[in-house]
Amino acid sequence: MATCKPLLAGAALAALFTASASAGELSAANQAKLIGNVDAYAARMSQVALQIWSMPELGYQETKTSALLQSELRAAGFKIEAGVAGIPTAFVARAGTADGPVIAILAEMDSLPGLSQAAVPERKPIPGQDSGHACGHNLFGSGSVAAAIAVKKWLEETGTKGQIRVYGTPAEEGGGGKSYMVSAGLFRDVDVTLYWHPGDANNASQDRNLANISAKFRFHGIAAHAAAAPERGRSALDAVEIMDVMTNFMREHVPSDVRMHYIITNGGAAPNIVPEFAEVYYMVRDPDPRIVADVFDRVKKAAEGAALGTGTTMDYELIGGDYSILPNDVLGHIVDRNLHRVGPPQWNAQEVDFAQKLQKTLGPGDLPPISSAQTIRNYRVNGQKYSSTDSGDVSWVTPLATLNTATWVPGTPAHSWQATAADGMGIGVKGAVVAAKTLALTVAELYQSPDEIAAAKAEFNKSRGTNFTYKPLIGDRKPPLDYRKNSSGPIAD
Ligand SMILES: [Zn+2]
Ligand SMILES: [Zn+2]
Repeated sequence: MATCKPLLAGAALAALFTASASAGELSAANQAKLIGNVDAYAARMSQVALQIWSMPELGYQETKTSALLQSELRAAGFKIEAGVAGIPTAFVARAGTADGPVIAILAEMDSLPGLSQAAVPERKPIPGQDSGHACGHNLFGSGSVAAAIAVKKWLEETGTKGQIRVYGTPAEEGGGGKSYMVSAGLFRDVDVTLYWHPGDANNASQDRNLANISAKFRFHGIAAHAAAAPERGRSALDAVEIMDVMTNFMREHVPSDVRMHYIITNGGAAPNIVPEFAEVYYMVRDPDPRIVADVFDRVKKAAEGAALGTGTTMDYELIGGDYSILPNDVLGHIVDRNLHRVGPPQWNAQEVDFAQKLQKTLGPGDLPPISSAQTIRNYRVNGQKYSSTDSGDVSWVTPLATLNTATWVPGTPAHSWQATAADGMGIGVKGAVVAAKTLALTVAELYQSPDEIAAAKAEFNKSRGTNFTYKPLIGDRKPPLDYRKNSSGPIAD
């Protein structure tokens, strides 16, 4: 009998765990209220999304877009703090009670240069418009606002304790807006952060990506006639080339997931002048931000060595730095469960016709069937993506989870004219409504389940390690507010 006791205890524990894991699930009445609240705002959300789409604004220049999102939130009763973290277009909107969990939803809003496109299934830039919403941030911002407005109403309807916030996060496309907002301590008291991103499929997978640091190394030499007085010159370009040789040899001695890439942005003026100035622009990436910081230190040493050996001097400027995404499986499962509850978007005959025409412009390669946009992909955690985003920084200071919905025709890559096209019509809007509903259900479930928040935090603390202190990879750089006006600014992630 004695040997049975642990088994019984184990079974009882398992039953308890199952009971507590589902304790936070919303009642059918609460689900219906939240879905109804999003539906009640969906027509207005569509107007906002399409208005932002028709006035695309580049990173840190999202003046009209940010003002529109803020005015929607203000009209719904949110209190707005604008111009946070030294960024005129960044804001935090708050509603709900002073006590209870604080849950944040991110809202991106910037467009991409050169991807102007009408909402038609063939290539057709809009005359006079030099950028476009080819990453769907018009939907991202408006969909997140829709979720937050629905949650605020529900908090009031049900008398639930909790605070809902929207973080208006500018300049995701290479401007690192969120990194500066994290550095400014704006997420310090947030319990959980959620976001979504437009895509060509519906899924709540929580993937890792790459942390990165980018920097420009500038070498200063002595100009001289390259044939008549070469001994008087010291070549800044030699220093760049020798630094590049050193880092290329270094590739053998770094962890295997490290990526290092560079371009020479200035190699001198003419071959008959010993270059007085040369510049090389580097990026270092790895899934682990601590490895990125270590390898970047070694790249700096290579630059110092190159300067020493060539009789030149060197300085460098940090341009960008993003943490990698720290996935949260506890939150991911909750988002996945609610995405299944909401279901994928349903396209009408006109939208399917648009999708069929647009898909003919995609390729080469196998494309997923159009019908895949009406399904939900299997959930996975810890898949590896080889890109970077400033949401990574958020995931190292608060548990973070995301989802993708199909706002694009299956097979559409981000940052393409085909994405801009779908982001400006029904397909895009329907995907954003699915995202808003999923986020609203997830947030409400978390308010009702302190256990789920505690489990998400426990996983978060375990993943980032006990001795972790957030140090921005961008150092003490200020937000590069003019990076889209000035070609020497950061590049897209
Ligand atoms: Zn993008
Ligand atoms: Zn994006």
